[in-house]
Amino acid sequence: MHIDQEIKLDFADVLIRPKRSALPSRAEVDIRREFVFKHSQRRYRGIPIIAANMDTIGTFEMALALAPFELSVALHKHYREDELVRFFSSLEVKSSAFYSMGITKPDHEKFERVASGTGEAIEYVCIDVANGYTESFVKFVEKFREAYPKLTIMAGNVVTGEMTEEMILSGVDIVKVGIGPGSVCTTRSMTGVGYPQLSAVIECADAAHGLGGLICADGGCTAPGDLAKAFGGGADFVMLGGMLAGHAECSGDVIEKHGKQYKRFYGMSSRAAMEKYAGGIAQYRAAEGRETLVEYRGPVAATVQEILGGVRSACTYVGARKLKELTKRTTFVRVSGRANDSFDESG
Ligand code: 5GP
Repeated sequence: MHIDQEIKLDFADVLIRPKRSALPSRAEVDIRREFVFKHSQRRYRGIPIIAANMDTIGTFEMALALAPFELSVALHKHYREDELVRFFSSLEVKSSAFYSMGITKPDHEKFERVASGTGEAIEYVCIDVANGYTESFVKFVEKFREAYPKLTIMAGNVVTGEMTEEMILSGVDIVKVGIGPGSVCTTRSMTGVGYPQLSAVIECADAAHGLGGLICADGGCTAPGDLAKAFGGGADFVMLGGMLAGHAECSGDVIEKHGKQYKRFYGMSSRAAMEKYAGGIAQYRAAEGRETLVEYRGPVAATVQEILGGVRSACTYVGARKLKELTKRTTFVRVSGRANDSFDESG
């Protein structure tokens, strides 16, 4: 047994210290980023925020709504092949959408069929497993990269520098970082496993950037300021689930309860998701996600404006004219107690 004595931080453990700035207004701030991916060598330009590949969030409707803002969506993996082929072959937004998949043989075969049905239309793939520390995951990613040299591959999840390096050396362009911080995730309480998300982001970004790779901070953002902290900590992309939940573009019906309107939101390893897609929870495992009702918030556009406004404002406070400069200009101050005005304790 070993105890790591170094303090590890979550978003709520810090604030960003303001700095002198010559920026007259937040309208001057450009929060777009441009990247050339290490392996695919494809060029990216957009606002590096990705809707999570959860079946309530990563929907076609969300992709259509976020595209005008230059945000991306990781489509959930439960769409049928014909639906995916139609989406990727016909829409302009396809270029900012990730095809998501697991690492089983059927996952791979489904991808091959959809990819061949869409020509070269799929540019981005998200290979997603709860635990990115298994040998089978690394082997799968290596083989997948060999088979598809031109795809931009995002894969995870991991939380440490050495595994981030291994992922990048195995062919991953964007390493997805986060184990346990999700708003409907119960991994920390069910297994005792996890890593405070801001520290994971800082350490994995450092490791990735050293090799010319990128990271996506996945999970734990509860307010726009958390995105600013993730970008300030070195994240190249940020993935959002809970902050985009409850909108018109999310799957599921609006539920009326006690005179209020809600939408269901649940983790992809929750009982609700396993019952929907796997016919229940397998005997050898337990749910590592929970289900909740989120107040209905109408179209997602207003929420996106609020998020982008918050990130832009954070850049102004530290004098970053571009989002790219935010991390260089970020000094975190540790706070005692929780930094955000409100915090979802269930995370
Ligand atoms: P949020 O933005 O809601 O805090 O986090 C979203 C992320 O939570 C997702 O992108 C995914 O990585 C993670 N997640 C989604 N569902 C589950 C689940 O059921 N269990 C766990 N452990 N993580 C989940």
